[in-house]
Amino acid sequence: MKTIQPQQTRILFKRLFSYVKNFRTGFIIAVIGMVLYSSIDAFFFSQIQTFIDEGLTQKNYQLLYYMGIAIPFVFLARGFANFLSTYSLSWVGTHVVASLRQDVFNHLMRVPVAFHDQNSTGDLIAKITYDIEQVQEASSKALMTLVREGAFVIGLLVVMFYLSWQLSLVFMVIGPVVGIIVRHVSRRFRMVSKRIQHAIGNVTAVSEQMLNGHKVVVMSGAQEQEADKFSDINRQTRQQQMKLVSTRAISVSAIQVIASLALAAVLIIASNPEFLNKLTTGTFTTVLTCMMTLLRPLKQLTTVNADFQRGMAACASVFELLDQATENDSGTINVERVKGSVDLKDVTFAYQGKNDAALKHINLSIPAGQTVALVGRSGSGKSTITNLLTRFYEYDSGEIFIDNKPIKSLTLKSLRNQFAMVSQHVILFNDTIANNIAYGMEETVSRAQIEAAAEAAYVTDFVHDLPHGLDTSIGENGMNLSGGQRQRITIARAILRDAPILILDEATSALDTESERRIQDAIEKLSENRTVIVIAHRLSTIENADNIVVMNHGEIVEMGDHQSLLAKNGTYRQIYDLQFTGNA
Ligand code: ATP
Ligand code: MG
Repeated sequence: MKTIQPQQTRILFKRLFSYVKNFRTGFIIAVIGMVLYSSIDAFFFSQIQTFIDEGLTQKNYQLLYYMGIAIPFVFLARGFANFLSTYSLSWVGTHVVASLRQDVFNHLMRVPVAFHDQNSTGDLIAKITYDIEQVQEASSKALMTLVREGAFVIGLLVVMFYLSWQLSLVFMVIGPVVGIIVRHVSRRFRMVSKRIQHAIGNVTAVSEQMLNGHKVVVMSGAQEQEADKFSDINRQTRQQQMKLVSTRAISVSAIQVIASLALAAVLIIASNPEFLNKLTTGTFTTVLTCMMTLLRPLKQLTTVNADFQRGMAACASVFELLDQATENDSGTINVERVKGSVDLKDVTFAYQGKNDAALKHINLSIPAGQTVALVGRSGSGKSTITNLLTRFYEYDSGEIFIDNKPIKSLTLKSLRNQFAMVSQHVILFNDTIANNIAYGMEETVSRAQIEAAAEAAYVTDFVHDLPHGLDTSIGENGMNLSGGQRQRITIARAILRDAPILILDEATSALDTESERRIQDAIEKLSENRTVIVIAHRLSTIENADNIVVMNHGEIVEMGDHQSLLAKNGTYRQIYDLQFTGNA
């Protein structure tokens, strides 16, 4: 995160305020409540003089009696003002947090896949939770202090000046000194709190990595290594927090020492006999009490800038996320259902941050309804091709056409609607099997359709044994299922989607030979009248493809049907021989 310049603070503040605007009424009520609260307090102090000089010194019994009656009412009003301001401020704050959170959440679904590649899930979650919370907490606190304590300070000063301007002037002298300290402290605060936010992000990221990969950690005996990594981050976080605490403590003490000088000065001025003669006990007591009382709000006002800066730093981090460019969705054609021809013309693409292109000058034509198989070594670019078709990434040059339309001319939604995808990385949601199969289309499909898809993908086979059948919850990412079972659910999802183009990336890799053959049948049935792009390491599953494309290092090296490729005696033959001499 970058340092925040004053002019940037103004922009951030304006932008944050645009969120507050929608809850204007609550905000105004909160401010009124705060001012009311402080005015009551100041009024209370102003009455000390009357109480001492008239009530006690002149023994005015009636005054004391009425004061006694009034006090509970004053405190009742004060309590009401307190409730009003606290409630309204929180009402506004929680609303702002909720809408910011929603915006960030929505935005994270609109940024390109590449953004997610480059940002750890932990960091992003920290922004949604911690950073946004900070915006509310710090800004509310800053506002509360500024208005409530600010009004209180003003109120007390008015009372003091009214009673004795000479004594009160002393306080005016220390003002600038306090200001200088505050400036210095706030700068340090800003720096440290940014580092803390970063450190918290690291804590989340490292913990998450360990939790997700905990089996690998245990098996590799890497506990100590992970513990060391975490302990480093843990220590950094703690150190930064201590810096924050010590800065705060030192600044508060310094302010208090300066304020004590003021008190000393008052006593010395009062010791002048000429002055002392004109001074009543009530006036002196009130001014002195006011001065001592001023310490608390002044102390709080010294941290107001820090709170404000903390809020602004969190704001900057959240807005930076909201300013991330979204996926380019400038296509205007809304296709219903394509016939399914796919053409790649001289397509070249490199992943961000990589010098070597993952795909180089790819030319490939798939007529509608055909099945094409992509084979080749790991890392040769097979999955990358499918990633470009769905526009998960934008290719650097060349063009991809579906039904002879450049895919960039279609809206993202309608483009992606043309595909059903069973990807290499099975992703399931923490929900029931039925809802996972019907994910994203729960409203438009019937139970019978879900059951038919489950049947076709052989999900029904293992569902029999589950307590609630298709309505069994599967836990986070299908924790309670085997790899093959998970894969079958995603195949059922693809079947139900009934899209014109089907992408199967290692769709049967986690299945045993028996299930694989049965799924193969299901897929074959599904392939009728559909364009299918299938990626498989096991060549036995793709022998029947209309066209087999052999890839190597991001290039197409061979193309043809099974027999002709074997006859060619090239790369395909090598892979084939390797698999069928027991090395598969
Ligand atoms: P496999 O058979 O192992 O699935 P593949 O042929 O599908 O391999 P791709 O996933 O297309 O291979 O990867 C092609 C190249 O692009 C590889 O060198 C890989 O390291 C790189 N690559 C893949 N995904 C990313 C990514 N998100 N960011 C950067 N580079 C990537
Ligand atoms: Mg792959």
